[in-house]
Amino acid sequence: MLDFAIIGGGPAGLTAGLYATRGGLKNVTMFEKGLPGGQITQSSEIENYPGQLEIVTGLELMDKWPEQCKRFGLKHDMNEVLQVTKQNDIFTLTLASNEKVEAKSVLISTGSVPKSANIKGEAEFFGKGVSTCATCDGFFYKGKDVAVIGGGDTAVEEAIFLANICKTVYIIHRRDSFRASPHEVSKMDSYSNIVQVLQHNTNEIIGDNSGVTGLRVEDKKTNEIKTLDVLGVFIFVGRDVLNAPLKQDDGSFLCDMNEAGEVIVNLNMNTSTKGLFAAGDIRIDAPKQVVCAASDGAIAGIAAISYLQ
Ligand code: FAD
Ligand code: NAP
Repeated sequence: MLDFAIIGGGPAGLTAGLYATRGGLKNVTMFEKGLPGGQITQSSEIENYPGQLEIVTGLELMDKWPEQCKRFGLKHDMNEVLQVTKQNDIFTLTLASNEKVEAKSVLISTGSVPKSANIKGEAEFFGKGVSTCATCDGFFYKGKDVAVIGGGDTAVEEAIFLANICKTVYIIHRRDSFRASPHEVSKMDSYSNIVQVLQHNTNEIIGDNSGVTGLRVEDKKTNEIKTLDVLGVFIFVGRDVLNAPLKQDDGSFLCDMNEAGEVIVNLNMNTSTKGLFAAGDIRIDAPKQVVCAASDGAIAGIAAISYLQ
């Protein structure tokens, strides 16, 4: 039986594992369905992680985290956790490999996935011109025209990344001002090949057998519709938390959540279920920053030690 099972190996899960094992827990496994590192590995540029003077990519930032976090005995099981249940103080994790694993305490740190914009053609052309990762797919559009949909930090940062590779980047946002930080927006303003298409809705992503060929956008003030000829469409319209493993057979959830499905925690990352902790982007009021996810993970690791004592 595990002392502490960690679900998700992003900044929160990795740091929880580091603190729990360095704090003396012997039997700690982090279940991460892919390579450890989390969603930040898809970022092209990070300049707000303390102590990191140079601007680095997400992959560079996370490069040494798994090695350091596993130094005190944390194990990584490359497996997806499908469900967590609890009976008589013992948690049972059901894995995608069909195995069941028991644990005395559990951390859910599964983060989030990109939201769909629900645009006509989005699903049809996903992977054929539609993408949610500029670092992964931007290079395919070297010297070509692309569009970015969204107005938050991710959309603006990734538009800048694409502007260094592509000929023209249209950034289409539904309001007249960006949600992204003023610092990022003023950086974007200095790029002459980023065309800001504000107060426009995207009605349809169009294409043919070769993939995406364009976008139909509508001016919200005049209702004028025009077509932008682009070969790539990058969608960054926010993220949905991944709370599926907490769903029980009767449709209820293992602990309390808010309407957005974010897990309600106290300052020690305790959920409403004893022995179950939540950390990082999945928790309520998460600032959605690497440094905050890591901090949550440290708190949860320490709290798990106290709980087991
Ligand atoms: P995540 O990083 O999402 O990690 C969760 C992990 O859980 C993933 O690896 C996933 O594979 C795994 N997982 C999910 N479900 C399961 C399951 N059922 N079983 C097993 N494993 C599972 N923050 C900054 O501070 N600075 C930035 O510049 C910045 N830029 C960003 C740019 C982009 C493009 C994006 C997408 C995010 C950016 N962020 C940035 C936000 C930052 O990445 C997140 O706040 C942070 O990664 C959250 O960490 P986490 O550990 O909570 O979750
Ligand atoms: P976000 O902040 O939620 O922004 C989503 C954007 O998409 C908003 O501008 C929103 O418009 C727009 N949008 C939502 N649904 C849409 C739809 N159906 N069609 C068209 N547009 C739609 O998401 P994010 O940019 O992914 O950022 C998520 C979190 O991570 C944020 O807290 C962010 O600060 C953080 N993050 C931080 C950094 C950094 O620190 N450098 C980098 C990336 C992300 P409205 O504005 O009209 O709502």
